[in-house]
Amino acid sequence: MIDYIAAGAETKFFDEVCRHFEKAAQFTNFSPGLLRQIRQCNSVYRFSFPVKGENDVEVIDAWRVEHSHHQSPTKGGIRYSDMVNEDEVMALAALMTYKCAIVNVPFGGAKGGIKINPGNYTPQQLEKITRRYTVELVKKNFIGPSIDVPAPDYGSGEREMSWIADTYATMNPGQLDAMACVTGKPLALQGIAGRREATGRGVAIAVRECVSIREDMQKIGLMPGITGKTVIVQGLGNVGYYSAKFLAEFGAVIVGLCEQEGAIYNRNGLDVEAVLRHRKETGSILGYPGSKEDFKDSAEGLEQPCDILVPAALENQLTINNVFNIQAKIIAEGANGPTTPDAEAMFYERGGIIIPDIYANAGGVTVSYFEWLKNLSHVTFGRMSRRFEENSSLNLVNTVEGITGVSLTPYQRAAIIKGASELELVNSALEDTMVDAFHDIRRIYLQNESIDTLRTAAFVKAINQIGVSYLNMGIFP
Ligand code: NAD
Repeated sequence: MIDYIAAGAETKFFDEVCRHFEKAAQFTNFSPGLLRQIRQCNSVYRFSFPVKGENDVEVIDAWRVEHSHHQSPTKGGIRYSDMVNEDEVMALAALMTYKCAIVNVPFGGAKGGIKINPGNYTPQQLEKITRRYTVELVKKNFIGPSIDVPAPDYGSGEREMSWIADTYATMNPGQLDAMACVTGKPLALQGIAGRREATGRGVAIAVRECVSIREDMQKIGLMPGITGKTVIVQGLGNVGYYSAKFLAEFGAVIVGLCEQEGAIYNRNGLDVEAVLRHRKETGSILGYPGSKEDFKDSAEGLEQPCDILVPAALENQLTINNVFNIQAKIIAEGANGPTTPDAEAMFYERGGIIIPDIYANAGGVTVSYFEWLKNLSHVTFGRMSRRFEENSSLNLVNTVEGITGVSLTPYQRAAIIKGASELELVNSALEDTMVDAFHDIRRIYLQNESIDTLRTAAFVKAINQIGVSYLNMGIFP
C-alpha cells in the first residue's frame, strides 16, 4: 500500500522520487512516522485563473507545491510548460528539499508550474500570465522572502523573475526585503552575478570532481581527469548550454548536442557558441556545418559514443527502453529526474556512474541562496571589504619587495593585490559547495557496501540532515 500519493493526483515522477527516498531511508535511523513526514508534500496549491485572449478568455492551470517546511522559506523554480502537471510539480518540489539539504542551503523544497507553452504567447501575454500567477500566490500567502521564494526553471528566466518581483513589491508596499521574494532576477534588479550560469557551472564542477578520482575512473575504464573527455549534452537551454560551455572550458570535448528538432555529432568536437549562432539564424541545430552526423530523431543523439552524457532538458529521458544503447560511462544529470530508477539500476549493472540530479544541478539553488542573502543584507558581496583587502595586500607586497629587494612584474603585482569581485566570490563559494558535497556523498557511498548508487548516498545525506532538523524541533520522539 503506497500511502504517500495525494488523493486524486496522477503519480509517476513523484512515485519515482519516493522510490529513491525509500531505498535510502533504510540506511538511516529515523522512525517510520518521521520518514513519512519528510517524504510527504506538505502543501499542494492547485489553481486556475483567466487571461483575456484575442477572441475569448483562456483559463490557465497552475500549481505551487511546498514540499517541506522543516526550513523556511521554501524554495524552487517555476516551470512554464504545457506538459506540466501536479505529479511533476510535487516530484520537483520534493527533489528541491533533498537538493537544498545536500548543499547545505537552509530552505525547504518547493516548485511551481504554469501549464502553457511559452512559445505560443507574446511577451505581453506572458507578462500578464506571470503577474496574475504571482497575485494568486500572494493571495494565498504562497510567496514572500520568509515564506516561499520562486526561481527560474524550464521555460522561465530572468524576465519572468522580474515580473514576479515587481508584482510582489507592488502588492507589499514598503516591505524592505520585498526583492528577496524571488531569485534568478537580472543583475539590474538586485539579482546576483553568476546566477544565470550557476546550475551549468555546478554541473561542470560536479563532473570534473567525479572524473578526477583515479580509483573510481579505473573501475569504469576511464583515465582520470577532465581533459579530453568526450561529452554529449541534451538540451541547449540555461542548464545545457552552460554545462557544455564550462565543461569545454575545463578541457572536455563536446562531441554531441541534442535539441527538440534533432541532434548533431562530431567526434572531433563541436563549437557550442557557433552551434547556437547557427540555431538562431536557421531555427535548428541540424545542418550545422561543423557536424559530421545529423539525427532527425533527437533521442538517437544520446546513444552516440562519448564518455559523459549530460541530460539537461527534461525528466524520463533515460529509461529501460534506451539505457542499454547509451555508450557513455558517466551520466551527469543536469535536468531533474532524467533517469528512471530501473534505468539507473541497469546503467550501474553495466559498470556506469550516475551523478544524480539532487546533487549535480544544485548549483542553481546554491547561488539563489547567495542572491537571497544579498537581497536581505541590501549590499553587494565584496563591497565592504574589496578596497580594504587591496590596500592591505598592496602594503604587504611593498613591504616584502622592500625587505627582499625583489620587484614583482606589474602582472604579478596586479594578480596578488586584486580584491575579489562579487562574481569571483560567488563562483568560489559555488565551487567550494559543489566539491565538498561531492566528497560527502562519495564518503557515504563508500562507507556501506549496500549503498549501490551515488543517488542513494545523496538521499541518505539529505534524509539525515532533514531528520535531525525535525528532531531538533522536538515534535518527534
Ligand atoms: P530551459 O527552458 O532553459 O532549457 C531547456 C532546453 O531543453 C530547451 O532548449 C528545450 O528546447 C530543450 N528540450 C526540450 N525537450 C527536449 C528534448 N526532448 N530533447 C532535447 N532538448 C529538449 O530549461 P532549463 O532551465 O535549462 O532546465 C532544464 C532542466 O534543468 C529541467 O529539468 C530543470 O528542472 C532543471 N534545472 C534547472 C535549473 C535552473 O537554474 N534553470 C536548476 C536546476 C535544475
